Amino acid sequence: MVITEKQQNLFDNMDSSDGQNGVWTDWKWQVRHCIRDINGFERLLGIELPAQIREQFSQIGAKFPMSITPYYLSLIDTEDIGNDPIFRQSFPDINELTVCRSDMADPLHEDSDSPVPGLTHRYPDRVLLLVSNTCAMYCRHCTRKRRVGDVDSIPSRSQIQAGIDYIRSNPKIRDVLLSGGDPFLLSDEYIDWILTEIGKIPHVEVIRIGTRTPVVLPYRITNKLVDMLKKHHPLWINTHFNHPRELTASSRAALKRLADAGIPLGNQSVLLAGVNDCPRIMRSLVHKLVANRVRPYYLYQCDLSEGLSHFRTPVGKGIEILESLIGHTSGFCVPTYVIDAPGGGGKIPVMPNYLISWSTNKVILRNYEGVITTYTEPESYKTNFCDRDCAKCNLELALEDADERKSIGVEKLLSDYDETISLIPQNNSRHQRRDLGESV
Ligand SMILES: *Cc1c(COP(=O)(O)O)cnc(C)c1O
Repeated sequence: MVITEKQQNLFDNMDSSDGQNGVWTDWKWQVRHCIRDINGFERLLGIELPAQIREQFSQIGAKFPMSITPYYLSLIDTEDIGNDPIFRQSFPDINELTVCRSDMADPLHEDSDSPVPGLTHRYPDRVLLLVSNTCAMYCRHCTRKRRVGDVDSIPSRSQIQAGIDYIRSNPKIRDVLLSGGDPFLLSDEYIDWILTEIGKIPHVEVIRIGTRTPVVLPYRITNKLVDMLKKHHPLWINTHFNHPRELTASSRAALKRLADAGIPLGNQSVLLAGVNDCPRIMRSLVHKLVANRVRPYYLYQCDLSEGLSHFRTPVGKGIEILESLIGHTSGFCVPTYVIDAPGGGGKIPVMPNYLISWSTNKVILRNYEGVITTYTEPESYKTNFCDRDCAKCNLELALEDADERKSIGVEKLLSDYDETISLIPQNNSRHQRRDLGESV
């Protein structure tokens, strides 16, 4: 791994005070030397922050602490620190203490959709399992900000075991997503144990790990870690790059190791005001990602968690960014833009509109250039009435390969075999009146 001159200087400055013979590229050294106080921050960067920022620091820190890896600190451009995307993602901002009307501690209801502690079962066939409560770098825009630095909610081995038991007893779960905290802050042996236990469950088809270590602690991606991970295929990894400046020689080397081990890589960015709310920045980011074998997976609208209001952009900004990507660049560079529904509704994709109008025999579409075009519908398509009697259907579904499952939501309204004609919100007053025999 390449060490820049700035990193060497930082290291010389830090390690001498440690009394141990550390190594900059040792991830455990990095974790031990995370910058958590403002004096260290100023001293290491050789800067002096305005008095007001110093005053605010302890006020914010009491609620939302700071932790920055020496590596991530080394990426801060001190020449223009106020606008620096690395600084903005890692250094506390007084606006984090502003609570807006729309803010919630747990907007995604991860805690309430949790059948066992640390496990969220939101979608029919996959679960989120929080295996670690720690991160090396505390992202200022963390959606689980309520838990950052909270030592009491570190998942114990028995809690993780309970999560694994839940997965084992639910044959519908085919995809397990490990997150936290950062799962890669756990030891190789512990991760190996978790992956082995989940891997033994016959109905689990894939395991995914969400980690920001390639961005904030690339030295964590050691050969030893990768050799262990590749025993657990099919394993997918999603990481979290938000700005092209984060793709350094070291992070690219980490991505290469993971990709060379046959691990499909995805990226989940968060749209952040003052960091990446710009079509040119996002285009540069997605191009760098695919050049490093990382597929842009999601672009998240910033959640309604407490303390994030200064990071939020209007949804229109995200649509503008997608408009600038779709058609203009390779299809696999374009992430799905999603809003994670407050209240636990899950991720909802949002797109520019391309379908302008339609009749029974034509649809009218527009492309990325603004060309308006027509697509003529087939004349000969025979509508298939689907009664879900797949054995009799002339489409050859290998029945043992495809689960029969009840459809829900809009899919249910579309189906032929279900009689439901509408979905009605709970407490709909018109229906309540009906139920009470018009007496209200
Ligand atoms: C994001 C998420 C998932 C995974 O969703 P995908 O769209 O499959 O990536 C699963 N469970 C929870 C609770 C989530 O928030």
